[in-house]
Amino acid sequence: MKKRVLIIEDESTIAELQRDYLIINDFDVQIEKTGDSGLARAKNENFELIILDLMLPNIDGFEICRKIREVKDIPVLMVSARKEDIDKIRGLGLGADDYITKPFSPSELVARVKAHISRYERLIGSKEKKNETVSIRNLLIDKDSRRVWMENSELFFTGKEFDMLLFLAENPNRVFSREELFDKIWGMDAYGDISTVTVHIKKVREKIEIDTSKPQYIETIWGIGYRFKV
Ligand code: CA
Repeated sequence: MKKRVLIIEDESTIAELQRDYLIINDFDVQIEKTGDSGLARAKNENFELIILDLMLPNIDGFEICRKIREVKDIPVLMVSARKEDIDKIRGLGLGADDYITKPFSPSELVARVKAHISRYERLIGSKEKKNETVSIRNLLIDKDSRRVWMENSELFFTGKEFDMLLFLAENPNRVFSREELFDKIWGMDAYGDISTVTVHIKKVREKIEIDTSKPQYIETIWGIGYRFKV
């Protein structure tokens, strides 16, 4: 999908120049010529970046930037011909991400737009990174924090119990022999015997099963091993 850029600029020739270069670079570009209409669209639509002229009739760019910032944290690239404005942008801490001075080179504008959008996307991406979880019916396993919940109450497991539960839950509907489980959880070289597996299965069941004689999660496949039922 094309990235959407909103240009708020009252001078048509400048707005159209910016738009043409951005369109060549595969952006979807919208132009608004007044501060009020620009602000309304900035608030109500999804844009990846806003190019904001500071010298607009009626409402100035600083005020618009402040108002956009109340509701959106997308990059705002401010445009001005006046050095005083640039100093003011720096000083005010308005949350404008960058500024560009008129006259500007269109290729520089495009480069800055691209840089800000990708930086913002990385930021959003890192914010949205969630813990990896395994969820099966009422059971929820958070792999990163190694925590487990059953119907919203937290259950507590030892390290190997957790490893066993997670391994089975991540490989549901497959039968594993006790030997295989021992290899997977304790490692091939570990000392011990496979009765450890039976003991750990029992302990995990006591925590997650309502009735351990009729397990709903970890089934015993007689003579073969265990299977996590989904
Ligand atoms: Ca202007």
